[in-house]
Amino acid sequence: MKAAFDADYAIVGSGFGGSVSALRLSEKGYRVLVLEKGTRFAASDFPKSNWNVKRWLWLPSAGCRGIFKMTFLPHVTALSGVGVGGGSLVYANTLPVPGDEFFSATSWGDLADWKRELLPHYATAKRMLGATPVPFTTLPDEILREVGRDIGRESGWSSTDVAVYFGEPDVKVPDPFFGGEGPDRSGCTRCGGCMVGCRHDAKNTLDKNYLWLAEKRGAKVEADTEVLWVKPREGGGFAVTARTGRSLFPFLRKTLTISARNVVFSGGVLGTVELLLKLKERPDGLPQISDRLGDFVRTNSEVLMGVVTERRDVDLSEGIAIGSILQTDAHSHLEPVRYPAGSGFFRPLAMPHAPGDTVGTRLLNAGAMILKKPWATLKAAFVPDWAKYTMILLYMRTSEGTLRMKLGRGIRTLFRRGLTTGTGSGPQAKAWVPEATELARRVEKKLDGYAESLATETLLGIPTTAHILGGCCMGTSAATGVIDDKHRVFGYEGLYVIDGSAISANPGVNPSLTITALAERAMSLIPSPVASSST
Ligand SMILES: Cc1cc2nc3c(=O)[nH]c(=O)nc-3n(C[C@H](O)[C@H](O)[C@H](O)COP(=O)(O)OP(=O)(O)OC[C@H]3O[C@@H](n4cnc5c(N)ncnc54)[C@H](O)[C@@H]3O)c2cc1C
Ligand code: SF4
Repeated sequence: MKAAFDADYAIVGSGFGGSVSALRLSEKGYRVLVLEKGTRFAASDFPKSNWNVKRWLWLPSAGCRGIFKMTFLPHVTALSGVGVGGGSLVYANTLPVPGDEFFSATSWGDLADWKRELLPHYATAKRMLGATPVPFTTLPDEILREVGRDIGRESGWSSTDVAVYFGEPDVKVPDPFFGGEGPDRSGCTRCGGCMVGCRHDAKNTLDKNYLWLAEKRGAKVEADTEVLWVKPREGGGFAVTARTGRSLFPFLRKTLTISARNVVFSGGVLGTVELLLKLKERPDGLPQISDRLGDFVRTNSEVLMGVVTERRDVDLSEGIAIGSILQTDAHSHLEPVRYPAGSGFFRPLAMPHAPGDTVGTRLLNAGAMILKKPWATLKAAFVPDWAKYTMILLYMRTSEGTLRMKLGRGIRTLFRRGLTTGTGSGPQAKAWVPEATELARRVEKKLDGYAESLATETLLGIPTTAHILGGCCMGTSAATGVIDDKHRVFGYEGLYVIDGSAISANPGVNPSLTITALAERAMSLIPSPVASSST
């Protein structure tokens, strides 16, 4: 007999939330279909450096179908991942557990005893993602430790837990993580390429754990397939319309509509919130979605800076993307980040790190820096290999300022309404924070270096984030949130949001482990139609 629906669960997006959902639902015996707008990659498909924009950048209108997407919004420049495996393909593998204030934050603390409930799911998430402490340190890690010592915080320094296989470098072995059920793997070569894509099968991306196992249990993953519309279907369930194919011209791609009893939105904040905002606008979409949609978008209030060294006896690109972390005060962390040698994509976008609340002050400060250090400025601008001689600094804190996402027009969305931002509540994230600048100045001294920021920060004062969160936050009803504490969308039975947009407080640290743990918890609450074993 033909099944009533093409899938029991259609999952939009294959990042952390989508991949966990795909595995756990297939384990329970559901028929799962994952629709992913990006491409499926083998290790050899990743470029050697981020200058190969065709294979690194996601800009399909220009023929670039890589893994790294930059979204320029009025209040934040958001960095994200695209492809089968979502952000895991491009991320820096770092998997910290947030501090206690995240679990008890007023924005969601009364919905559940989050710390107690999530701890076992963090343990599962760490096991599934293969989190392990980095077994070596490099010069940037030692500099970070020294900075910790200088500010009386050395005990706040530690190696990061990362999702990487540290076996014999470049030696292929049978799956070391899932009793042989996973793919063959090779040991990390410390090439620093994690954020360009791991060419060595050493990074534990989602296609090597959750998605791999989900596909073995029957889940179908359709790459190059972007979900455009979801609406309730007469007789129950939902109709999901997607465009599939890789042609440069959308009209040359095939449109398909499938039926699903349930839909899980896992497109990441930028994918899920934009799609739901479009669906909410129209009666033939999902008009009953809460008016809170788009509210409470948070970042980790990150400040990204690069310190370019004048020394030529060092190679800062060797190691993994993030090897250590320093808690610099009760609410803040600093991490050293690297790109692989030859990856200078960000060099033309760099300007002197120049704090200031107005463009005038920032330009004056940048000018003063250039006058004070003309030779160092020139050397930084023409450094022979930006990645080899630059220690990137990622500063994060738990401050509670929020943004609001909405649809509208802007420079990016001149011809077609699209995602844009407005201010929300609390102190807004800024491109500079005095404590972060102070830490960068300390690193400058230790490295004979010169601190830079992206031009969008120095010129426009717009902060950059790789950790955009929220927009479909939890609440007790549609008046206070988009989803409940079980990730169910208010107003529509059978719809779920399971990704970074469901994160309802600021973790203050890299969020993927938390997204994974929350997804594990959400899945544990979905009943099984048939008895099955768990991985
Ligand atoms: C350079 C960089 C470094 C980072 N480093 C770290 C780190 O070290 N540690 C950490 O914890 N986090 C890191 N992050 C952040 C991390 O990648 C994200 O927080 C995480 O991936 C978000 O997971 P998610 O489940 O919300 O969705 P994502 O992982 O963002 O996946 C969403 C997927 O959905 C797809 N999609 C979107 N819309 C649609 C649609 N309409 N139809 C079909 N598919 C769709 C997207 O293509 C994407 O593949 C980093 C991010 C970047 C950009
Ligand atoms: S350092 Fe190189 S080999 Fe190791 S995980 Fe990162 S990209 Fe892969």
